[in-house]
Amino acid sequence: MVPLPSVNWWPGNLRLYESRLSFLARFCALNGLNARSSMKFLDVNPEDDTPLAEEALARLSSVLHEPLPHVRRVFAPPASFAGCGRYAPPPVTPDPRRIRYCKACSRHGYHSYLHETSWLSRCPFHLTPLETAEIAPRSGMAAALKVEAWQRLIQASSETWPRYWDDGFPTQEHAQMASLTAWLTRAGQAAARLAQAERWRSRDRPFFGTPSLAQVFGQLRTLEAMPAQIAPLFTELGNEWCVERRAFPWSTRCELDRLQQLGLGLDHLLDFYRRIESPSALSPLARIRAAQDRLKTRHDICHCQWELVDGAWESSGWISVQAEQGMRRGFACPFEVALAELECGWEPPGTDLSRNPSEREWRRFLIVSHALQEAGLIRPRPDAWALPEAERHGTHDVWRDYDWRDDSLLTGLLDTIIEWEIASALTALTTWLDAIDRGTHPFVRGHPQHSIRLGETEDGLSLVRWQPWSPTQGEPSVP
Ligand SMILES: [Zn+2]
Ligand SMILES: [Zn+2]
Repeated sequence: MVPLPSVNWWPGNLRLYESRLSFLARFCALNGLNARSSMKFLDVNPEDDTPLAEEALARLSSVLHEPLPHVRRVFAPPASFAGCGRYAPPPVTPDPRRIRYCKACSRHGYHSYLHETSWLSRCPFHLTPLETAEIAPRSGMAAALKVEAWQRLIQASSETWPRYWDDGFPTQEHAQMASLTAWLTRAGQAAARLAQAERWRSRDRPFFGTPSLAQVFGQLRTLEAMPAQIAPLFTELGNEWCVERRAFPWSTRCELDRLQQLGLGLDHLLDFYRRIESPSALSPLARIRAAQDRLKTRHDICHCQWELVDGAWESSGWISVQAEQGMRRGFACPFEVALAELECGWEPPGTDLSRNPSEREWRRFLIVSHALQEAGLIRPRPDAWALPEAERHGTHDVWRDYDWRDDSLLTGLLDTIIEWEIASALTALTTWLDAIDRGTHPFVRGHPQHSIRLGETEDGLSLVRWQPWSPTQGEPSVP
């Protein structure tokens, strides 16, 4: 085995919570190496913040003569959200064009990986707002340029850098920092437990946007109460978010299991359930129409300044028009697009089976509907079978040939999911239309839906949603 070359480093020189950027810059300076060769030799990249594997940690420990637990704390911090699924904050991707740092920390010759996270707005050691330094564009490898830019910046802030006076900064016992890392660990574990028990969640609809920091931290705080002393550090606390839970009995869970074994997942059931016609005011279609009516009240006469070119969807198909020109055939204004999305079950138009389904969709529908009928969930309407199956293709709304059996053990669960999903889609669409009214381009669709999740509990199932608190809901539940 080839022995590792000896390096200028000593035990204890690696600092707690230090960023890879800070570590690499000091390593380069202490060893007279450039950024590129240091990164290659150490196999550490300042732009990657994912925890290092055990093998890489052991190698670093051996090269640097630092104890393995200390190397692990810096390069594989325990406060990670791995395993939390969609409960996790967005991954930290340090921006290659700028460095976020704390001025007071830089006087200690120090930079922490926490300074680069978008969800912290203040330094956890000094509680001061974080600064941003732009990196001048130059040719070269972005990660290496960043290390060099940090070297210049830190040299101007700290006279002793790359050495530092061991004045006990930073310590693990630092009040806010200890509290922050402990909370992150607890919240991460609670989110991972929930993700593990999660059975279903509302579909990702990227055209609505991804969860905001406010939503993510609103959710995490309902899972694990945040100590008051660390609240001022966060960019977004999600104070306005509240959680609602509905419990469903063991029998509902067994019924879902039974259907799952027949190949009927919850998404299949919802696909069907949300399209059924029923005289009930609470039927899914009645709920969709009520949501559409609420949208219509804001659009008596079209004054929209945008039209979507026919056939274009969520691309650059939006063109600006003068309101007085009026709408032309084959174009849809943002409001019409919003109505159509509700009509299609909050999917982009074109995915709707009831409008001229393709041969493939028709076959899928037949397979699913036969399976649902055999499973005892639906029954054909007496008037729906006048034409043989093959001839009914494309002639009328195929979904409405069946009635849902209200005595199904799943009706309550499906009803609640549909009700919550419509409310969520309506909020996302209303927010989008409001933004367009204020002058935002309609292509910008960063309006996340509320997340709806079904999890397994000891007694059965629990359906959970987080949503922004509104005055009609009473007092917000305190996370
Ligand atoms: Zn600081
Ligand atoms: Zn309009």
